[in-house]
Amino acid sequence: MSAAPGTLYIVSAPSGAGKTSLVKALLDSNEQIRVSVSHTTRAMRPGEVDGVNYHFVGREDFLAMLEQGAFLEHAEVFGNFYGTSQHWVERTLAEGFDLILEIDWQGAQQVRRLMPHAQSIFILPPSQEALRQRLNNRGQDSDEIIEGRMREAVSEMSHYIEYDYVVINDQFSHALEDLKAIFRARQLGQQAQQQRHAGLLERLLG
Ligand code: GDP
Ligand code: ADP
Ligand code: 5GP
Repeated sequence: MSAAPGTLYIVSAPSGAGKTSLVKALLDSNEQIRVSVSHTTRAMRPGEVDGVNYHFVGREDFLAMLEQGAFLEHAEVFGNFYGTSQHWVERTLAEGFDLILEIDWQGAQQVRRLMPHAQSIFILPPSQEALRQRLNNRGQDSDEIIEGRMREAVSEMSHYIEYDYVVINDQFSHALEDLKAIFRARQLGQQAQQQRHAGLLERLLG
C-alpha cells in the first residue's frame, strides 16, 4: 500500500450494462483497488448479501443518515434511495487505495463538484437489445422492473458525455482489458510513480 492518497473513480452505466460484473473482475485482478458498498433502500435481490452488495436500510434510517450528513452523495434511482458513505470514502482513499464508486449520473455530478480529481468511466452496452437480454438473463428482476429500467436506460446513457472514459461492454474480456488499461495508466502517472519509486529516483538523480 502506498502512502499517497488513492484515486477516486466513478463508474456509471445503465442497469444491466455489466458494471457490477466488470468492477468485480477488476477488483479480483488488482489488490490496490477497493469498491464502495452503498447504502440503499431497495429490496435485496436473491443472492445479495447485506454489507457485501449493499448496506440495505429502511427509508427512515436512510433519511436519518442523510440528515446527519453521512453521505458524500445520494440520489433517488428507480424510486429507491442510494447513497455513498462519506466517512468510508475518505478513510479508504487516505489509506492509499484506489476507490470505485458504482453510482448513477446524478451522484457522479455531485462527486465531481466535491472531488474534481475524480476519474469517471461510463459503461455502454453494445445495443439496446443486448441490454434487455442481459437484464432478462440476470433473472433477478420482475418484468415490470426490467421494463422500467429499459425506459430509463436512454436518458441514463445520454449522460455518457459527462465522463472522462467510455467503455463498450460487448465482449466481456475486451471490456475488462479496457477498464484495466484506464486504472493502469493512472497508476503510471508521474505523481504516483514519484511516490512509488522515490528510492530509485533518488539513486538515479543523486
Ligand atoms: P443494477 O445497476 O442494475 O445492478 O441495479 P442497482 O439497483 O444495484 O442500481 C440501480 C442504480 O443505482 C444504478 O444506476 C447504480 O449506479 C445506482 N447506484 C447504486 N448505488 C448508488 C449510490 O450509492 N449512489 C448513487 N447516486 N447511485 C447509486
Ligand atoms: P449492472 O451492474 O450494470 O446492472 P451486471 O454486472 O449485473 O450489470 O450485468 C447484467 C447481466 O449481464 C449479468 O447477468 C451479467 O452476467 C451479464 N453480462 C455482463 N457483461 C456481459 C457481456 N459482456 N456479455 C454478456 N453478458 C454480460
Ligand atoms: P468497519 O471499520 O467496521 O469496517 O466500518 C466502519 C463503518 O464503515 C461502519 O459504519 C460500516 O457500516 C461502514 N462500512 C464498512 N464497510 C463499508 C463499505 O464498504 N462501504 C460503506 N459505504 N460503508 C462501509
